[in-house]
Amino acid sequence: MSINFQQLTSAGIAKLKPYQPGKPIEALEREFGISNALKLASNENPLGPSPKGLAAAQTELGKVNFYPDTFALTDKLAKKLSVEAANITLGNGSNDVLDLIARVFLAPGRNAVFSEYAFAVYPISTQAANAECRVVKALPADHPDMPYGHDLPALAQAIDEHTGVVFIANPNNPTGTWFMLPELLTFMQQVPEHVIVVLDEAYTEYVNIEGFPSGLTLLQQFPNLIVTRTFSKIYGLAGLRIGYGVSHSDIADLLNRVRHPFNVNDVALVAATAALDDSDFLRASADMNRNGLKQLQLGFIELGLQFMPSVANFLTVDTGRDAAEVYTGLLKQGVIVRPLANYGLPQHLRITVGRAEDNLQVLAAFKSVIKS
Ligand SMILES: *Cc1c(COP(=O)(O)O)cnc(C)c1O
Repeated sequence: MSINFQQLTSAGIAKLKPYQPGKPIEALEREFGISNALKLASNENPLGPSPKGLAAAQTELGKVNFYPDTFALTDKLAKKLSVEAANITLGNGSNDVLDLIARVFLAPGRNAVFSEYAFAVYPISTQAANAECRVVKALPADHPDMPYGHDLPALAQAIDEHTGVVFIANPNNPTGTWFMLPELLTFMQQVPEHVIVVLDEAYTEYVNIEGFPSGLTLLQQFPNLIVTRTFSKIYGLAGLRIGYGVSHSDIADLLNRVRHPFNVNDVALVAATAALDDSDFLRASADMNRNGLKQLQLGFIELGLQFMPSVANFLTVDTGRDAAEVYTGLLKQGVIVRPLANYGLPQHLRITVGRAEDNLQVLAAFKSVIKS
């Protein structure tokens, strides 16, 4: 007897496509029988974890018989961000917070609005809540300022009375594109107050352009705003899974009602608390990224390949052909990058900025693949 389990779930979940993670180094080494593979596929920090975070995590391992306590991190974050502890929601990665938001503010009959070429978790959380994904065209590839970027006026236009949430990311993944304060303010003023705006700032610590907006400064003015951030990127703690949302305390209260008790583990909490103080590491990571982004951009110009504008820790390159072939060619050379066909970008590859020597290696591998 065979059971069709697909029919036992909801339509939204039956149609879900699972998230595709970047290929792990060990998987490539196993498959190709190579060693010393380089992974620049998941926007992880190439300098490793924050040393302060790592040291704290190691010490904490001896205490994992106790359930985790969120007080220290919440308190420290509140002080650092100049908000109250009641404004903060901790998540098992910021993805967890995105999912809590979907569970609280979406439902059958509602929709979530987000851009074409947006983060893969937005449609997953939306469909899992059995809400409709309302995908808005991105700015065109030949746009003079921000090709492939969020079209904020069009996103605002797409909102209707059934919209529960709008997801926007600044800078955005997988494009690297961004928007500035005036555009964000105009957008926020156009969004009805019954609609939750999620401003995903996973990469904000990397941005080094003058006047780049922080969503935190808008929370007072716009109580329907939730800002999400993560320890996965510049803090180098992706494997520990910890991120957070900052919002009106009434929103945080709702999120906390559906949040599983102890959703964030003890080691992650302690590591994140220590990593917040690791200013040397944060500075070194941002400096390396700034130089590395330039290095990659110059390298791709030399190779005659175009790329999207980026202020994040990755660069999205147009290979000018089916990117799957280039991806496989790079794998054979021991370099893992990220194909973007599942984001509707079959000719593009996303490359995480590495250390100078990593960037040289990826550029050399690209050169040999595209010339062959
Ligand atoms: C990497 C990333 C995150 C972070 O996810 P975590 O669950 O915190 O690891 C969030 N949003 C975007 C757009 C990202 O690219």
